[in-house]
Amino acid sequence: FERIEVLGVPIDRVNMEQSIDWVDQTITGDKPEVIYSLNSEIVVMAQNNPLFLNLLRDGGLLIPDGIGVIVAAKWLGLGLLEQVPGCELMPAICESAARKGYSIFLFGAAPDVNVKAQEVLRERFPGICIAGARDGYVKDEEMPQLINEINSSGAQVLFVALGCPRQELWVEKYLPLLNVKVCQVVGGTFDVIAG
Ligand code: UDP
Repeated sequence: FERIEVLGVPIDRVNMEQSIDWVDQTITGDKPEVIYSLNSEIVVMAQNNPLFLNLLRDGGLLIPDGIGVIVAAKWLGLGLLEQVPGCELMPAICESAARKGYSIFLFGAAPDVNVKAQEVLRERFPGICIAGARDGYVKDEEMPQLINEINSSGAQVLFVALGCPRQELWVEKYLPLLNVKVCQVVGGTFDVIAG
């Protein structure tokens, strides 16, 4: 698939099916890759902050998450993008993970939300392997221990739900230390799943 630029910000021309295929391929790779959700909020942030823009450029998959970027791409004559909402991609990855045996780790949200999201995912996707989980209120000094926990869990897919831009900055800092293959930042999706 093609990586285009909308108002100077990179975004991938992918649909849901191609995103799942990308995850399948990336799981077999040898270095961790991240999925970022591109929406108006992120585009504005990247336009005002070159470091944030650079961080996005390092993303392995930049999904058209918000309708704003799709409208902007169309106005700019870049053609039609299909919307891939991050909050739909996460359950789709979980469905695929349950079927193919990838294990997942859930990092983020309030403690009760995190626990509830695990329960809902186990119910919705029987057989899913949740290798570990941790709420999103971890102190900086506890981070090395969390990194160890994620690595020793053997999880292949990590979901990070710390809100924007905290989650993107966390990934930029810690992904190089992780053994996971795919990481998706998911904003408030654990709250959505927990209901
Ligand atoms: N959150 C967290 N740790 C923090 C701050 C926020 O885990 O230090 C969680 C919060 O509990 C919520 C999510 O991050 O589950 C933020 O969701 P929000 O809808 O604000 O994020 P957005 O989708 O706007 O990026």
